[in-house]
Amino acid sequence: MDNNITLKLLNWYHHNQRDLPWRNIRDPYRIWLSEIILQQTRVQQGLPYYEKFIEAFPTVQVLAAAPEQEVLRLWQGLGYYSRARNLHSCAKTVTEQHRGHFPASYKELLKLKGIGPYTAAAIASFAFKEKVPVVDGNVYRVLSRLFGITTDITQPSAYKEFFSAALRLIPAEQPDLFNQAIMEFGAMHCTPYKPLCLYCPLQEACYAYEHGLQKELPVKKSRIKVKQRYFHYFVISSDDEKILMRRREKKDIWEGLYDFYLVESGKMESPETINSPFVQQLLLKNSILVNESAEYRHQLTHQRLHVKFFHFKCSNQAVQELRQEIPELEEFTPEETGELPKPVVIKNYLDKLIF
Ligand code: SF4
Repeated sequence: MDNNITLKLLNWYHHNQRDLPWRNIRDPYRIWLSEIILQQTRVQQGLPYYEKFIEAFPTVQVLAAAPEQEVLRLWQGLGYYSRARNLHSCAKTVTEQHRGHFPASYKELLKLKGIGPYTAAAIASFAFKEKVPVVDGNVYRVLSRLFGITTDITQPSAYKEFFSAALRLIPAEQPDLFNQAIMEFGAMHCTPYKPLCLYCPLQEACYAYEHGLQKELPVKKSRIKVKQRYFHYFVISSDDEKILMRRREKKDIWEGLYDFYLVESGKMESPETINSPFVQQLLLKNSILVNESAEYRHQLTHQRLHVKFFHFKCSNQAVQELRQEIPELEEFTPEETGELPKPVVIKNYLDKLIF
């Protein structure tokens, strides 16, 4: 173990750590919840969600017993909804197969749904003080700069190498504190664009500082190709101000959330040119296009969505006929739509919708 670096990191953490509600707790349920919420999410954005979840589901058993729709609704706005579904499924497994207790080792935790090496290491070290390093984006950055590791961190094999590098630093007595310290150091001090090298306690040991390579490390060759998708939403409302929505079932983004009738095509089109028998029927039913929205852009990790809404008003009878064509379309009052779990782009549209 490189004692000097470890002690300096722990000392830095002692003086600089942020006061966050999931710090210094040993409850694996709360640790797990915070780690799942914070994946791909900034602390400031994740904080209110963590508090909402703890209030609604104070224990893993309460979370397991909740309807999935309720879990998705509370998750609304965080994105990556598969995380919420895995969270719920994992809570059920812990409740039903482990009598409400999270397994107490890294290896056993890895067997649970939605728990990868990072989350397993966080729970095992924070809750059970197991000497196992956490390796997240912050840790990759600190270690690559400190030791001059030039392996591309987007390569799957990189994890093992950085895990071994972290093992050189993690102490047996305080693995929990060390893991928190190195992550916090990456988040607050050794930051991506403006690391505070001049005031850095690790300066003397740092390869990147010595060679002026802070901007080059870590090496991250982005291989993510962004797919463009064009969503045409048909928002159909009836004379008695009910609105047609459906639950997304298939394996795609937003599974389990509610949206409107959707036609996807390779470019943005108008209702007249869209190749959809349902839309052609809609146009034949004396429906009135009361509003065509601007085009919204919505960025996901691997996809860019171009979204347009076409609001049609129809007679009650026409709505019933359309529902016979697509039975999964359900009628909701405006108040009821507020209770449904929805993607943010749908929620924002409904918030402004005038009937
Ligand atoms: S000297 Fe700079 S690059 Fe090196 S660990 Fe410190 S902040 Fe990071």
